[in-house]
Amino acid sequence: MMETYSYSDIANYLQCPRSVLLRRSGLPTADNDAMRVGRAVHQIQEFVVERQNDPPDIQQVCAVFTEIIERSGADLGDPNTARRIEKCAAGLPWLINVLPSPARRYLATETQFEVFDEIDGERVRIIGHPDLLYEFDGELWIDDLKTGRTSPRSVITDLQVNVYARLVSDTVGRLVTRAAITNPYRQEAFTAALDQRIVGATWESTVRPALRGMLTAVWPCNPAHVYGCAGCLVAEHCTFGQAALERQGDED
Ligand code: SF4
Repeated sequence: MMETYSYSDIANYLQCPRSVLLRRSGLPTADNDAMRVGRAVHQIQEFVVERQNDPPDIQQVCAVFTEIIERSGADLGDPNTARRIEKCAAGLPWLINVLPSPARRYLATETQFEVFDEIDGERVRIIGHPDLLYEFDGELWIDDLKTGRTSPRSVITDLQVNVYARLVSDTVGRLVTRAAITNPYRQEAFTAALDQRIVGATWESTVRPALRGMLTAVWPCNPAHVYGCAGCLVAEHCTFGQAALERQGDED
C-alpha cells in the first residue's frame, strides 16, 4: 500500500522524528490553547472569504470570533491564552481589510492538494491544505495564515509555502508564482514572487530526506529541537516529554 504523508508529518519529522511515529501510532494527542486560538482565526478567515461579495462588518466578525473561542475549549482564565486571544482579536480589523479584495478570485480555502513522489523506487503521496488559493493580477497565489508570535524571515524560503506551491502547481497544472504570509497576530503581511528553483531545491534538500526517513522507519528522538519537548503533543508518551513536563510543573 502506498504511504501518504501530510505537510505536518514532514514539518514534525524535521523537528523530532519520534513525535511523528507516536502520532501515527494512534496515541491520543494533547490539544493546546495556541492551536485552539489559531484554528479560530483560520475559521474567521474562511468566514470572511466566503462572504467576499457581501463582506461582514467588524462587529459581526468579532461576535463570530468570540463565539468560536467560547466553544473552542480554550482556558480563558489562563493569562497567556487571554493575551493571545486579545492580540488576535486586535488584529481582526486589519485582517478583514487585507482579505476581500474584489480583484482576487478565490479558488480554494483549506482544500486538500496532493503530489506523488518516488523515494528509492517507492511511490509516496504527499498531501497538504493551503489556507487560500486565488488568482490576482493574472497570477496564481497561495496565502498561508500564521497566528504565532514569530515573524517569518522570508516568504520564499518558508517550508510550508514551498511545499504547498509544489502541491498546488502539480495538482492544477499551473505554477504558483506568488506567495503571501498573513499574520493578524502581528498585523503583518509578506508577499514575494515564488522562485521555482527554490521550491525545487527545498523539495530536494528538505522534503525528500524527511520522506525517506519516514519511509525507511528512522524515528530517533530529538529532544534538542527548537520548540522544546514540553509543548510536544505526544509528550506524555515519551520519556523526554515526561521529563520536560515535570520540569515545567516544578517551575510553575
Ligand atoms: S517529547 Fe520531545 S523527544 Fe519526545 S517525541 Fe516529543 S519532541 Fe520528540
